Amino acid sequence: MNRSIALFEEAQNYIPGGVNSPARAFKAVSDTPRFIERADGAYIYDVDGCQYIDYIGSWGPMILGNNNPVVLKAVQEAIVKGLSYGAATEAEVTMAKLVCELVPSMEMVRMVNSGTEATMSALRTARGYTGRSKIIKFEGCYHGHCDSLLVKAGSGLMNSGIPDSAGVPEGCAQDTLTATYNDFESVERLFEENKGQIAALILEPIAANMGVVLPDGDFLRKIREICDVNQTVLIADEVITGFRMGIDGAQGLLGIKPDLSTFGKIIGGGMPVGAYGGKREIMEMVAPCGPVYQAGTLSGNPVAMAAGIAQLTELKNHPEIYDHINGLGAMLCDGLKEIISEAKAGCVVNHIGSIGSLFFTGKPVTDYASAKTSDTAAYGNYFKHMLKGGVYLAPAQFEAMFISNAHSEENIKATLELAARFFGV
Ligand SMILES: *Cc1c(COP(=O)(O)O)cnc(C)c1O
Repeated sequence: MNRSIALFEEAQNYIPGGVNSPARAFKAVSDTPRFIERADGAYIYDVDGCQYIDYIGSWGPMILGNNNPVVLKAVQEAIVKGLSYGAATEAEVTMAKLVCELVPSMEMVRMVNSGTEATMSALRTARGYTGRSKIIKFEGCYHGHCDSLLVKAGSGLMNSGIPDSAGVPEGCAQDTLTATYNDFESVERLFEENKGQIAALILEPIAANMGVVLPDGDFLRKIREICDVNQTVLIADEVITGFRMGIDGAQGLLGIKPDLSTFGKIIGGGMPVGAYGGKREIMEMVAPCGPVYQAGTLSGNPVAMAAGIAQLTELKNHPEIYDHINGLGAMLCDGLKEIISEAKAGCVVNHIGSIGSLFFTGKPVTDYASAKTSDTAAYGNYFKHMLKGGVYLAPAQFEAMFISNAHSEENIKATLELAARFFGV
């Protein structure tokens, strides 16, 4: 790891914290980042020549595995035609039709360059549509780094212990109301206290940025109902779950119909892409059709569209991919559950489909507060043990493990054996 250390030292002189996104720093596990040279299939390789089984997959996008040949070929064919035109292309029509075909709640869609842009724009659209200002988000849900959403957010904020970012003017956050995930009464209360003022409620239908936390019982159904009663726009942030929980995302799996949805990560096949869309009547508010302004010089970029279309088409044409990744997800998470029960360790595993989290707490993890009871130092030790043994997990407790179609049963077995050694069983 000598070269990684040297690069990290140099990086810190020029890049804040040495990384271009805090989730990449190994601060939360008291280590320094490995610098990655390349990735292939289920593996990534660092600049010191170490190979790791990759459970990050670029934080979700690489659902087909790293360096998928179909996606690569599509990109190669696109790049020779020019990298960007700033003009309309056929690929954008193909992408929009594909997304609307795959996700029934989507009638219109606008492409952007990141998940952050998608959620920020969806909120603006909801506010423009309703003429209201206030929004509800949940503690521990992460929706990117737009000002009004950096309140009690998950992911990097939670991992670094920053509940609310500095630099967000009070005015930007005062219209953001926070509720407790899986606590419908906390939502009801906010609606009662702010009658007729709530433009949108945004949530991760399956939370994956305070570690994986599942919505229980009829939580989502009740949320849908209260949004209907109050004419509040329900925004499902499917940046992680979209095209992963199934081709129609968490909304398909759990049977809820949001008014707007946001996508990112998988939709770009590894290129920087996000998207937001939903009901026609709401999306027709967006410029140049309507008065809500939102734009992007590189939005719908032809190379990014090629990668995204190729990946979504593979997923559409090969539903068996979901059987494979969900099967391996169950194998990994059930295996971890057995290990912690045999070791009588104070840990819990939350799992759905191809994502899961091992929390170092004895309590069930159902929301931000219970996730926060995790022993992050213990997670750090586990992370370092796994990394040393060739398994690359998220360098922080409050993230998910991501399984791709390139992972094999052998990968999972090797991972479980290594984990068992950590727990001494
Ligand atoms: C990653 C993420 C975002 C932000 O996407 P970026 O592309 O990082 O801006 C938004 N919402 C959720 C649920 C995410 O996991």
